[in-house]
Amino acid sequence: MADSKPSSVHLPVVPSDSTTLGASYTCSQLSQFERCPLSFALQRAERFPSPAPPERRLGVVLHRALEDVVREHVRTGRIARIDRHRATAAFQWAWAHHDLSDHALFVDGLDLVARWARREGVVAPEDVLGIAQEFEVEVGGVRVRGHMDQVDRIGEEAVRVRDYTSSRLPPRREDAEASLKLAIHDMAARQLWPWAKRVELAVDLLRHDVRVAFERTDAQREATREYVRASVAQMRRGEFPARPSTLCVHCDQRTRCPAYADARAAKRAAGAADLDDLHVVAREREELALLLKALGERKDVLDEVLRAELEQQPELRLLGHRYTLSTAIRREYPLEGRWRGRSWRCKTPASVASRPSLASAPSTAAR
Ligand code: SF4
Repeated sequence: MADSKPSSVHLPVVPSDSTTLGASYTCSQLSQFERCPLSFALQRAERFPSPAPPERRLGVVLHRALEDVVREHVRTGRIARIDRHRATAAFQWAWAHHDLSDHALFVDGLDLVARWARREGVVAPEDVLGIAQEFEVEVGGVRVRGHMDQVDRIGEEAVRVRDYTSSRLPPRREDAEASLKLAIHDMAARQLWPWAKRVELAVDLLRHDVRVAFERTDAQREATREYVRASVAQMRRGEFPARPSTLCVHCDQRTRCPAYADARAAKRAAGAADLDDLHVVAREREELALLLKALGERKDVLDEVLRAELEQQPELRLLGHRYTLSTAIRREYPLEGRWRGRSWRCKTPASVASRPSLASAPSTAAR
């Protein structure tokens, strides 16, 4: 297997002056602060970080596999199509060197890698400028570190910065264009490859066989510098408000977050909204959306307890309800549509979709 040590380029950081904030942050720290300042603060204070959820760890394995495949082409100077068997072998190798042990996720990852290999076509090693390319740049007086999944030359004076994602929900184009991480990648690429007059940012949606690509303007870059500067100033003032949203169910810090605890206890801050005031309507709507997600997560925990019991016996009759496990075999995830003129379909292995689901019905016999 190819050496997977990330390539590393450290740019000369702009010398400190009276306006330089001096601190150093990673792209993901800044993005986390943007999503929710409290989650950033809780994570920073965490002495023993909790392990990432399996889906996110699958993303790490996938990135490793894709990087290894392209790195091997570059190392050997081979101009050729990506070999699907080599790609799946790279995935198996990356999986074997990780701590995941979920059969359905493995099958899922194998499928994603095979599809990526088919889509990727020919790799021209001389056009690959960076793989897992590390950088450290100055943005608005703040040192920012990060890495770009892959950087390709796409013309005499242009580069494409690529970001792979195995997310199940395709980000909207506006979300990709507003991404702080990609905005910083754009600035890093301009400093790493100053000859590039054009920097294209591209998000490869591995599950949807789609690439979302765009460029940024000078005005947007200036706004990003100001934003980073203002964010770090907020951090320095120790301002870390909770920013609850439906994304809280994916937050690693939710078990320590008072706002999430309130949501799980179905505590409501907003009363019934005056339906004529759209701001109030939106606030109550978002609060209820979070409550439903948080309560749904709790319900999933309770379902798992009942499901474990039903592995031992065919049915449970409790409090006037009859619980059973029912198996529905479905071979495709029912998500398909069109994205920027291209159709896509999200496939899920049958073994995932056919997991027995918990069925509950009023029980007349047990009352
Ligand atoms: S659970 Fe929500 S509000 Fe709490 S820290 Fe996480 S993202 Fe912020």
